[in-house]
Amino acid sequence: MSRTGQWPPVPEALPAPIVDNHCHLEYPAGDEPRSVEQRLADAAAAGVTRVVQVGCEVESALWTADAVAQYPQMVGGVAIHPNEAAVLAAKGEYDDAFATIADLARGDRIRVVSETGLDFFRTGPEGRDAQMQAFRDHIALAKELDLPMQIHDRDAHSEVVEVLEREGAPERTVFHCFSGDAGLAKLAAQRGWYLSFAGTVTFKNAGGLRAALAVTPLDHVLVETDSPFLTPHPHRGTPNHPALAALTARTVADVLDEDLTRVCEAINSTSESLYGPW
Ligand SMILES: [Zn+2]
Repeated sequence: MSRTGQWPPVPEALPAPIVDNHCHLEYPAGDEPRSVEQRLADAAAAGVTRVVQVGCEVESALWTADAVAQYPQMVGGVAIHPNEAAVLAAKGEYDDAFATIADLARGDRIRVVSETGLDFFRTGPEGRDAQMQAFRDHIALAKELDLPMQIHDRDAHSEVVEVLEREGAPERTVFHCFSGDAGLAKLAAQRGWYLSFAGTVTFKNAGGLRAALAVTPLDHVLVETDSPFLTPHPHRGTPNHPALAALTARTVADVLDEDLTRVCEAINSTSESLYGPW
């Protein structure tokens, strides 16, 4: 995860347009920060013509609500991130924050509740109840508003699945930055859930993740950058930007042994079926 350094080059254009299913353009990144306009233009040049911008704390959710009104290539997601939920709950500020998110989620260009779930990597046992409560709240919100939901699952695979099964997952449920194994990928496909692969699937040591991708039906595969984080190979250590979703799409085509154009078309139409027209 690097937000500093020189920006990596814009990759060769894809043969058909795709969507970056999850990015955080509000974060400044790079030694010489690039405007949102520039990053969107670079993305379009690589064939990444549309993005889902995610604001997962109150301030960035407000930023997202403004940005989606400004940029036609962008629709938005809002939520309280599981790690943030634990911090806010400890200060007694979670309920107000969630109320703001629930309000913003009603915006016409906010198309997904994102990102919510469980993170046992950054948050210790003391924050688990707060994360569970926030996860349940976001599931209920997605269902109430008939929005898709993007899940953040870090070191919490079985607990995430348990909560989804107990509460009933929203009809359109996406694992953002999927990090599970082939077993979880198969289970997700059986449940009709979608898996969004980030730059991590391009890493040299990510054989397990590529094995998970290999068993995922193409019509349940999405790609994302999670930029400015998780820069794909071979640009690790530099700031990520939506254009680099093109590299991840190429890896998807390689791993699934599918024609690249077909992969792009599938990603594009699945994204649109999840979030609606841009
Ligand atoms: Zn994210």
